[in-house]
Amino acid sequence: MFTELQGKTIFNQAKDYAFDYLDHLYERNVYPSKQALENLKHFDQDLPDNPTSTEEVLTLLHQHGSPATVTQAGGRYFGFVNGSSVPAGLAAKWLSDIWDQNTAMNVLSPLISRLETVVESWLNDLFNLPSHTAAGFVSGTSAATFCGLAAARFRIYERQDWDINEKGMNGAPKIRVVTGRDVHSTVLKAISLLGFGKENIEWVETDDQGRIIANQVPELDENTLLILQAGNVNSGSFDPFEEICERAKKAGSWVHIDGAFGLWTNASKELKHLTKGTENANSWAVDGHKTLNTPYDCGIVLCEDRDALVSALHMTGSYIILSESRDGMLYTPEMSRRARVVELWAVMKYLGRDGIDLLVNGLHERALQFAQELKSQNFQVLNNVVFNQVLVACDTDELTVKTLEQIQELRECWCGGAIWRNQKVIRVSVCSWATTKEDVSCSVRSFVKGREIAIAKKTGGK
Ligand SMILES: *Cc1c(COP(=O)(O)O)cnc(C)c1O
Repeated sequence: MFTELQGKTIFNQAKDYAFDYLDHLYERNVYPSKQALENLKHFDQDLPDNPTSTEEVLTLLHQHGSPATVTQAGGRYFGFVNGSSVPAGLAAKWLSDIWDQNTAMNVLSPLISRLETVVESWLNDLFNLPSHTAAGFVSGTSAATFCGLAAARFRIYERQDWDINEKGMNGAPKIRVVTGRDVHSTVLKAISLLGFGKENIEWVETDDQGRIIANQVPELDENTLLILQAGNVNSGSFDPFEEICERAKKAGSWVHIDGAFGLWTNASKELKHLTKGTENANSWAVDGHKTLNTPYDCGIVLCEDRDALVSALHMTGSYIILSESRDGMLYTPEMSRRARVVELWAVMKYLGRDGIDLLVNGLHERALQFAQELKSQNFQVLNNVVFNQVLVACDTDELTVKTLEQIQELRECWCGGAIWRNQKVIRVSVCSWATTKEDVSCSVRSFVKGREIAIAKKTGGK
C-alpha cells in the first residue's frame, strides 16, 4: 500500500509541510501567538463518523498545528532543559518511522537489537563506565530513574533474602533512601511509585549552588539507596561525587545518579571534572533528548549490575522468544517500544567523540556568554555557570516577574521562571545545538527590552 502513488503523495505532502516549517523557523515567534493558540479551537471536534482523507488530516495539522508549536527546533528556546534535534538524528528517525520496528525482542527486530548493543557499549565508553554496564532505552530520565531505583530495590532486598518480585513491599525490611534537598521531582515520583515512600527519605542539606554537602551525608550501609545528581535543574550544579561515591562503595550502598542533562559533561575534556567519581555509582539515568539533542522520547538507564536490572524488569510468557543476543524488553518497563535507539545511534555516529565534546562544551560557552552579557546589562546572575544553566534576577522580585512576563510576550526567545533560594528568577537553559552567539545576543536584547517595558508600565501608573 505504501508503494501506491497515493501513499507516496501523502508522504511528499508531509515532507513539504515539514520543509515549509523549517524554512520559516528563524522568523517565527519562539512561542505561538495568541491568534495561533486561539485557532487550536479547530481541533475541538467530535470523533468523526466517517473517514477523513489523509490530505485533509495533514492539511489540518499544518494549517492549525504548525503555527501553534513552540519553536524548540530553533536556537532561542531556553525554557526548562529542552534540547532540539541534530538533523542527522531527525532524518534517521524519519527513516526508522517507515521501518516501524518493535524493539521488544531480538526476534522482532535483529537490527534494533544490534544497534542497542552497539550504543550500549558506546555509552559505557563515553561515560567511563564499567564495560559490563547494561543500558535500557526508555522514554526519558523519569523512566530511567524508575528503572535504576527498581534495580537497586531488587538487589538490596535480594541481599536480605527477600525476593521483592514475589513477596512485594508488604512486610518487607526497610530500605534507607538518602538524597539531597535539591533532588529533581521525577526522582521523588520514582520513590513513590516503587513504594519507598517520600516520608522515609533521609534528606541531606545542599549548599548555595544546590550541591549535596558531602559531610552531611549520614552513615551509609548496605541497605541504603543514595541518589545523587549530575546537573541541578535550576543552577546546573553537580554533587561532589568523588568523595561521596567512594564512601558509598566502601559501605556497600547503592548509588543512583540522576544525570539527565549533566552526565554528558563526562564527554567533554573541558567539563569532565564535574562528573569525576560518577563511574563508581551503580546506576545512572540520562537523556538523549536534552544535551545530546536527539529528537524527543529518548532516555537511557545504565546499570552496572545487569542481573539486578534484568531481574527487576523481566517478564515471561509462553509466547515470548528470548534470544542469545539482546532482547530490549529485559531492560525496560515496556514490552513493545519504538526504535528510539536509531536516533541515538545516528547522532553519536554523526558527531563522533569530538563532535559530542564540541556540542556539550558549546552549550557551556553560550551559557557563559549569556551570563556575561546579562551582567553587563545590570541583570544579576545568581549561580556559578558551571555548565548550561543561568539563573537571572532583576533588582526586585516584582521586577523579575514583570520582566519575565514581557520577555514571554515579546516571543523573541522563551524562558521560564522559578524560585531559587527564596528569590524569583528567570531560568535560562542553553540546551540546543542550534543556539548561536547571535541568538544569545539577540535574546539578551529581548531581556533588556522586556525590563524597559516592565519599568515603563509600572511608572506609567498602570
Ligand atoms: C529533565 C530532568 C529530569 C526528567 O527527565 P525527562 O526526560 O523529562 O523524564 C530528571 N532530572 C533532571 C535533573 C532533569 O533535568
